[in-house]
Amino acid sequence: MAGSLAPLSPPRRLLFGPGPSLVEPRVYEAMTKPIVSHVDPYFFHVVEDIRAVLRRLFGTSNEFTLVMSATGSGGMQTAVANFVEPRSKFAVLSNGYFCERIAEMARRVGANVVRLEKPWGETFSDSEVRTFVHRERPQVVAYVQAETSTGALQMGLAIGAAAHEAGALVIADAVTSLGGMPVQVDAMGIDVAYSCTQKALACVPGLSPITVSARAMEWLRARRSPIPDWYFDLKLLDEYYHGAAHRYHHTTPVSTFYALREALAVIDEETVEKRWARHLLAHRAFVAGIEAMGLTMHVADPHRLWTVNTPRVPEGIDDVKVRRRMMAEYDIEILGGFGPLAGRIFRIGLMGMVATRENVLLLLDALQKSLTAEGFAARGNAREAAEAIFHRAA
Ligand SMILES: *Cc1c(COP(=O)(O)O)cnc(C)c1O
Repeated sequence: MAGSLAPLSPPRRLLFGPGPSLVEPRVYEAMTKPIVSHVDPYFFHVVEDIRAVLRRLFGTSNEFTLVMSATGSGGMQTAVANFVEPRSKFAVLSNGYFCERIAEMARRVGANVVRLEKPWGETFSDSEVRTFVHRERPQVVAYVQAETSTGALQMGLAIGAAAHEAGALVIADAVTSLGGMPVQVDAMGIDVAYSCTQKALACVPGLSPITVSARAMEWLRARRSPIPDWYFDLKLLDEYYHGAAHRYHHTTPVSTFYALREALAVIDEETVEKRWARHLLAHRAFVAGIEAMGLTMHVADPHRLWTVNTPRVPEGIDDVKVRRRMMAEYDIEILGGFGPLAGRIFRIGLMGMVATRENVLLLLDALQKSLTAEGFAARGNAREAAEAIFHRAA
């Protein structure tokens, strides 16, 4: 039957989950601009603009900084397909869900996967990393800088140093850090870092920024074994993006590139440094509010992400009921933990548009009311404690 679909009218949610995050109207509007083809010079200008801001966010001078036409998992697949060979040793620091996802990808390309494991939410110390890398002598070391399943930040300095000493390449997942906190690709000795558009970049999902060091590109150009995934083959993409003939590889989703360019323009206008500072302040105020209520954060103090916050669910409270109430009464989306952290933590994203005083206070208020309605006896007032942090910083 013709015309059987009602007009599209999605609900308006306040997205405080670990992604996707809210998108500014001007970013949506960018997607309504006329498309050009994937070989139009205009498209390559858009790509250049995107790259310039991405390099600053990644903290790199890497020439090879691209955008994959795929979600964050596609960036992960790109890193594995290009830099992990069959029968090579792939060492992964495993303390969460996304570490396991990259380990599974490495296993599927035929690598010998070795793990250093920690409970979800803990991080690896410099000496643990050094001992592991020196013992295993792998070809690749991978870690998740911003583990969205736990809220933990993994420091990378010792990983970079130990891996390079052993002649290994370093892959880092920066999906939830890029845009909300410094990634420091060059300073941390990361060879390959990837991210996505719908988390701290506050853009629509669909693209995956990736950056590759000169050292890793040199390794790739010398690689003899075939790259298993044609779509993620960086040598082919290099020819398309950088070759004089821009040899056709795939039809780039140009409207999504427009959206990314606009999201990066938003970031550039605020400035990268001020955006990081805003996310840090929102995180600090949130933690003050959480602790004032009498809740505790799952991750220990210097290892918390600013972008994804994980307070523990208080004893005797059903997190699903709290989250349902937040959605029903405030249109606020927050998520819970999964795997070993199911029912034990909330996962609350403070990324992009919601990392502001007004939104953090709104969220804490709704969370305190929802917890109270589910039987939690809060110690103090979350909103007031957070307000004091914002006030002091003003
Ligand atoms: C979200 C996420 C991914 C996967 O990204 P998709 O866009 O969902 O494919 C990978 N790693 C981390 C750490 C993430 O948070």
